[in-house]
Amino acid sequence: MSGDVTVLPHHGVTAEELLARLAEAQQADLPVRGGKVTAYVYDTGRPEVHEAGAAAYAGMLEVNMLDPTAFPSMVALEKDVVRAVAAELGQPDAPGIFTSGGTESIMLAVKAARDAAKIERPQMVVPVTAHPAFHKAGHYLGVEVVAVPVDLGAYTVDPASVEAAITERTVLVVVSAPSYPQGVIDPVTEVAALAAARNIPCHVDACVGGWLLPWLREAGAEVPPFDLSVPGVTSISCDLHKFGYAPKGASVLLFKDAALRRSAYFASAAWPGYTIINATVQSSRSAGPLGGAWGTLHALGREGYLELGRTTLEATRRIAEGAAKIPGLRVLGDPQAALVAIAGSPEVDVFVLADEARKRGWFLQPQLSYAGIPANLHITVTGVTLERVDAMLAVIAESAEAARERGPAVVPEGLPELIASLNLDELDDPTFVELAASVGIDLTSRDQPEMAAVNAVLDALPAKTREAILVRFLSVIYG
Ligand SMILES: *Cc1c(COP(=O)(O)O)cnc(C)c1O
Repeated sequence: MSGDVTVLPHHGVTAEELLARLAEAQQADLPVRGGKVTAYVYDTGRPEVHEAGAAAYAGMLEVNMLDPTAFPSMVALEKDVVRAVAAELGQPDAPGIFTSGGTESIMLAVKAARDAAKIERPQMVVPVTAHPAFHKAGHYLGVEVVAVPVDLGAYTVDPASVEAAITERTVLVVVSAPSYPQGVIDPVTEVAALAAARNIPCHVDACVGGWLLPWLREAGAEVPPFDLSVPGVTSISCDLHKFGYAPKGASVLLFKDAALRRSAYFASAAWPGYTIINATVQSSRSAGPLGGAWGTLHALGREGYLELGRTTLEATRRIAEGAAKIPGLRVLGDPQAALVAIAGSPEVDVFVLADEARKRGWFLQPQLSYAGIPANLHITVTGVTLERVDAMLAVIAESAEAARERGPAVVPEGLPELIASLNLDELDDPTFVELAASVGIDLTSRDQPEMAAVNAVLDALPAKTREAILVRFLSVIYG
């Protein structure tokens, strides 16, 4: 399909034909089930759970969340889902909002804090390991991000650094439980306390961990307090489309109190049309994702999540131990959730390792070096991982050896300096494609690309230049 000129067909086709075409279009996709893709997808290993979620999604598909008075089913389901999450996250009566994902939850947490503070030129204090959704929220909402470094052994933020970064204009302080890159939990109790002492709200980004840490704790892991039960924590985000295993488009944002939640809401009567009262960024939106999340929560139940927590904990420990024993590799920090970051060495280039693993049918997610943290590969352990731990470790070991033989990806002499000196805004897309081709990077190929060279070049560039390149890249792939 892609590449050809597609126009609306004159005659419609059957649903059967559509599904066949979708299957064909997905041939080059990474597999969403089976555990060989260690990012983006969350597989319980129980197909019937995903089917139940999909069925409930379809059951709510055509309900429009635009107007809660028109569709009371959506209010009932949302309250049910929010209550379930609040009960596990330290405050059973916490008011909440069901959102489309972590980014939207974070956007609304930042909006609530900004609007509650009513301070000119607001700032938020954010560890460098926090998700870019805070930078996006800052960019969209006009809140300046004040980034604070993390400890380069533990990869968690130092409360003293947070304290030093707070100013009169700080409207929000952020911690992660855990942060995505290394899967470690910031000192929530200490940071929330120092924020509270200054009357500043504290958001806990538990997007990835919120629906996992409670089960890991119950399964015997040591999990420090991180939720709304911690004094000073005023909001927390928890994505159900991650370790809730719900279909995508599902996150919950909880608030300490209803006043803060009201600051996240938006109403408008400034037009002659229907009344606008929105809890989220989107206005018209399908209740499908809400149905999917509700259905998945009920299909698994406490027992299901606890069992998934147990297997995830065991798999994570085995992967961290196993990876640390592979020559040339090491695990960054002490993974406290189900996220493992594996760094290489001068002999074993992780970007080359990732390409080698991909040739063997496995996807390991490359993470670029940043703020003193070395480049590494990220593994998200899910319910399906345990039965494949040995296979995964064998592939990582084999790919590491292959990477050692191939040697590190080479960045052409002078290229980073050249790119950094270009005014990327002045290049058109075809010139950009040519430039990439001149250094051996084919952006137009439909084949599985060798990503090591691309990652090595990006890794050698400052973050701002990386961002400019990534925007051009997106523009090129959408043609
Ligand atoms: C995934 C994630 C987010 C963003 O979530 P999306 O659902 O992709 O928008 C935010 N914070 C953390 C820690 C995450 O892991």
